[in-house]
Amino acid sequence: MSRSTDLIHHAYQPPAEFEAPQVGVFKASTVIFPNVAAMRTREWMDKSAYTYGLHGTPTTFTLEERLATLEGGTHCLLTPSGLAAIAHVDFALLKTGDEVLIPDNAYAPNKSLAEGELAQFGITHQVYDALDVNDLAARITPRTRLVWLEAAGSVTMEFPDLVALVQLCKARGVLCALDNTWGAGLAFNAFDLMPEQGAQGQPSLGVDLTIHALTKYPSGGGDVLMGSIVTRSDELARVLKLSHMRLGTGVGANDAEAVLRSLPSLPLRYKAQDTAARTLAAWCASQPAFSQVLHPALPSSPGHAHWQQLCVTPQEPDGLAAGIFSAVMDERFTSQQVDAFCDALQLFKIGYSWGGPMSLVMPYNMASSRVRSVSHMQRGRVVRFCIGLENVIDLQNDIARALKVAHL
Ligand SMILES: *Cc1c(COP(=O)(O)O)cnc(C)c1O
Repeated sequence: MSRSTDLIHHAYQPPAEFEAPQVGVFKASTVIFPNVAAMRTREWMDKSAYTYGLHGTPTTFTLEERLATLEGGTHCLLTPSGLAAIAHVDFALLKTGDEVLIPDNAYAPNKSLAEGELAQFGITHQVYDALDVNDLAARITPRTRLVWLEAAGSVTMEFPDLVALVQLCKARGVLCALDNTWGAGLAFNAFDLMPEQGAQGQPSLGVDLTIHALTKYPSGGGDVLMGSIVTRSDELARVLKLSHMRLGTGVGANDAEAVLRSLPSLPLRYKAQDTAARTLAAWCASQPAFSQVLHPALPSSPGHAHWQQLCVTPQEPDGLAAGIFSAVMDERFTSQQVDAFCDALQLFKIGYSWGGPMSLVMPYNMASSRVRSVSHMQRGRVVRFCIGLENVIDLQNDIARALKVAHL
């Protein structure tokens, strides 16, 4: 045999048993079958066997199983980003003539997808007020196939009455999907919203499926883009998996390994960032430059009681919340002044995303991005703070200094 062939078909095989704390990075497009019969009979739909790298390796199967456990589901699929997970759910479940309902405070690209590709495919959408269960009830029609939910809402952080919204969807026979990025599977269990019911032997109330931007807390590094879809329904899992195999949206093994490496510290990081965010949110609420601070654990924040209902538990008497909040700047400040404040921050960097080690800030103009009225909010520009893992006093000093520099 020549060298070139030897280097590929080498006789050495490492011993089969190898165990270490971290899962190996299995990189494969090709998966080798021992013989043709095995290739013909191998199962493509579940995790009983390997067929092709796109459809699963030990690395991705392990990550999927751990994420399903994290979120309280039984099936998980990985997608190349959180937004790809949203798109995957839409493409797998909606067809021409269907309608999807999206909360006004949803992650904005969810709405953009509905306005773009979904509209092109003859799928309509309506935007509902997440704080008004009656508004959702009035918008559900026989054409409604799917309702998106988000708790807390993006940027403005309203916490909806998730229990009532899910009960409504169940009563009307409409599928509901939760963007679970904020709760990260830790703040509440999306598949078991009323654990006390389950304790009395009643069936658990939960969403039909969740998507999660693993890009945020599960990655924790600000260096990976990935998403997941989790469900407890065997039937939904089958539909989503078939669609996943047809759309070809897999993830890279190195990225999956990076998320696997970060998962064990997820609860610690989530809690540390929560604690720091609450300290800073409370401090911001005491500063005259901010007319309102939006963080679901603050009693003045819209939907605070709903957050308490779901996220305060005997295990977490102070409740859990993501390390993210927004502040409404007093309306006498111009957008130039608000921009100058963001520019003056030194530790808070200007950038999208959250859940990583570095604190981030982003100014928003809510008037231009909302369809429905936001009467529960003070008027003025909104600044969102995403809290990283820096020392909280340093972060507070950074905000105080930037307020001075920008003369706010
Ligand atoms: C970031 C984010 C997404 C999208 O995740 P990407 O991986 O950046 O595509 C979806 N939903 C929410 C709530 C997010 O914050």
